[in-house]
Parts: sequence; structure tokens; C-alpha cells
Amino acid sequence: MIWRRDHPTRAAGLRRVIARVRHLERRTRPVPPEVDAAFRRRWEELPEHVRTDAQMVGRKSLGCEGTHGVFPKCNFSCTPCYHSEDANRVRVDGPHTVAQVREQMSFLRERRGPASFAQLIGGEVSLLEPEDHAAALAEMWAAGRIPMSFSHGDVTYDYLREVSVGLDGQPRFPSVSWALHIDTTMAGRTGAKKPEREAELHPFRAEACARFARLRREHGVSSYVAHNMTVTPANLGEVSDVVATCARMGFRMFSFQPAAYVGNDRRWREGFRTISDDDVWSAVERGVGRSLPYRTMQFGDLRCNRVTWGAFVGDRYVPLLEDDDPDDAAARDAWYEAFRGSWMHQRTATAALRLLRTLLRHPAAVPVGLRWLRRFVARAGGLRRFRYGVQPVTFVMHSFIDAELVGPAWDLLRAGERSDDPQVLAAQERLEACVYAMAHPESDEVVPACVQHSVLDPGENRQLVELLPLRRR
Ligand code: SF4
Repeated sequence: MIWRRDHPTRAAGLRRVIARVRHLERRTRPVPPEVDAAFRRRWEELPEHVRTDAQMVGRKSLGCEGTHGVFPKCNFSCTPCYHSEDANRVRVDGPHTVAQVREQMSFLRERRGPASFAQLIGGEVSLLEPEDHAAALAEMWAAGRIPMSFSHGDVTYDYLREVSVGLDGQPRFPSVSWALHIDTTMAGRTGAKKPEREAELHPFRAEACARFARLRREHGVSSYVAHNMTVTPANLGEVSDVVATCARMGFRMFSFQPAAYVGNDRRWREGFRTISDDDVWSAVERGVGRSLPYRTMQFGDLRCNRVTWGAFVGDRYVPLLEDDDPDDAAARDAWYEAFRGSWMHQRTATAALRLLRTLLRHPAAVPVGLRWLRRFVARAGGLRRFRYGVQPVTFVMHSFIDAELVGPAWDLLRAGERSDDPQVLAAQERLEACVYAMAHPESDEVVPACVQHSVLDPGENRQLVELLPLRRR
């Protein structure tokens, strides 16, 4: 009798143990099956012209994502502004935001895979009540995203704290990420309503970093803060000073957007296109004090994105990889091969086991990695210079496509046709290789942010004006 009663219980227990071991075995493979499938799919989606040896999308990244139609309103005015004219007639509504974020992020989780960086972007994110903001971030984490709140940075310390710290006094999230847009194309900042020189904004940049440092000190909240700047002919000459002055303030990323003819046409100015991407990148390089290699690791299409990963060692900026060193290209290849896929959202023990299995499968990656480390230290000026501090900083340039090209390019892509106009064709190629995606669960589509802002936003915001009209006083 005893045997008969215990047997099914023991068998069920054994099955549970076996299932757990299998689960752990899958999760600690060098490339876990779900990650493998997502990255293969992403690689297959890329057009031929960006499937280069340098391409990291589909190997190390799925690209970035962003929200739309969640809180279009903003309390600043920028020239240019990438939002449609109606954006400011839409009420900021917490429940709407949270529901939309949940829907869009779950869709991206399902369509694109288990892990990605995603921007909580509108409008101005700090117009959300702190609890609503935190709830939206929680939805993004739950969908496997690492969220970044996109703001003008005119935000109080108390607001940051309320978003980041729960009522129990503990950090709500493993970390917080914010992208702060601070430049002279914006009007409305407290204490600098209409700044004329970028240098006027340096104290605001420093204060923003100090607020996050305080959040860490007082509440143990770790943060990643990016600095965003729109570049026009008017402030191009000040870019290098922004970089040189602010590089060591604490920002982990400096992202530059050459002004494009996107969004609200009443905020456009003549001459945006009189400066080129090379002009902007050269200005950033002057601020850093050296060239910034962006070809050895490529993120999507180089006409859209240039990225340099590296670190300040003391006051010297050292890129992770140089463009003209074949050994660096070999190190990149070994890294792509051995560490394929994302390593986000893994517990330390799981990641350690995965790392061990990865190194056992790819032992040749170890000497390649050690040689790369030796080169990095040598470029930094030797080990002794590391005592002056190391601060990882990434430099990015993201160039949106003008709306007049996006419209026809998108129509032709959907019709399966190619344009014979070289400019529209170039836009088509870039949209196909896009790495900044927005979700449309209602039409079962993932669209490039350029399409969102240039084609879809106006209609979407008109609907939102009906759904979420401003409250009358
Ligand atoms: S297509 Fe537009 S949104 Fe996509 S990466 Fe290029 S510039 Fe960015």
C-alpha cells in the first residue's frame, strides 16, 4: 500500500527535477534556444547591403525599440520637433500610457524576441505621474525590455526618486536609464527658457548628472544617463565644446541627431541640410580630441547610425576597437562568434555557467581576448593611467530621414517595388535596415521610427485628440 501511494508522488518529483535540469541546461547554453531563434530571425530580416562582417545587429543586438502614441504631449518647444502638430492637444493619461506600453512591449517580445533596449518616449515622459511612469517601466521590464526614459531633463530630484524608489525605500528596478535631451534648439527649460549658447546649458547638464549620482548615493539606484543633442547649422560650432566640457560629467552616452525635416513643419528652419553627417561627426571628434572609429562595429545602416564604444581612461578616450587594426577586426569576429546573442536579464549564477560553457566551446576566444586587452591597455597609455579612473562612454550619431523621402519610400516598400529615384531608393534601403522599431499590434506590424514620425504620427495623434482631449479648466 505504501509503495502504491508514494510511487506517483516520487515520480512527479523526479519529473520536476528532470524538467528543472533541462531548463537550466537550455538557459546556460552558449546561445540559449530562444535567443538563438530571435537572433537568427533578425539576421535573416536584414537586407543584404548591411550583412557585413562588422554588423552587430542579428549577432549581438536585436536593435532598439521605442513606444509611440503613449503620451505625445510635451511642455517644451523644440526646433525641430519630431512630433506632429496635434501632439500637444492630447492629454497625458497614466492608464492609457500603461495599457499601450504593455500592449506594444508584449507584441515586441513576441515578434522580436526575449531581450532588447526600448525607449519610453513620447512627448515628455516626466509629465506622467511618477507612479504611472514607474508602472510603464515595470511593463517594459516584464516584457524583457531594458527601458530608457526619454526626457528634456528638466526634472526634479524628487520626481526621479519617486519613479525609481518604491514605497518600501528600495529601488524598484535593477537600474534606471534616462536619455536627456539638452540643447539650444529647445525652449522652456526652468532657468534657461531660451538659451542662445550651448555653454549656458552646461550647468544644467552637470546638475542632471548630479541628481542621478545622489540617487545612487542615497537610495542605491544605479543609472545609465545618455545626453542627446540635436545639431543644426546654428549650434554645430558648439558641439565640440559640449563634448569637451561635459564628457566626464557622468553621461554614459552622447548621442547627436543632425536636424531633419521630420514632424511638425511649423518648427522647421531653413538650412538643416546644409550640414552633413561628416560635419557633425568631425565636430564630435574635435571635442573628444581624436578620431572616432565606427566601421569595425556597425549598427544597422551607416547612413543612419555611427557608433563608437570606448572609455575615458584618465582624460584620454580609448575606443574598444580601431578601424584600421586587423587584429581588432579579428577580436570582433571572435566575440561575435563566441558570445552570439544577448546576455540581458540573466541571474549572475546562470550567466556564470553560460560563460563557462561558452569558453569551453570556444577556447580560442580566450587568447584573442587577452591580446585585445593588452592592446587596449597600451592605447590607454599603460596600466598606470588606469588609476586616474575609467569611464565608459559611447558616442552615437543618429540621422533621421526627411519626411518627404520616407513617405514614398515606405509606400514603395509596402508595394514590393523599388524606386528609380536614387534618394528614395536610399531611404528604402535604410528603412529596410532600420534598427529603431515601433510596434503596431493592431496591424501586426513593426515599423521604423522614421515611418512612425513622418507617416503615422499625424493620423494617430488626431485619433488621440478624440480619445484623450485636454481637460477644460
Ligand atoms: S530608418 Fe530612420 S529610424 Fe530607422 S535607423 Fe534609420 S534613421 Fe533611424
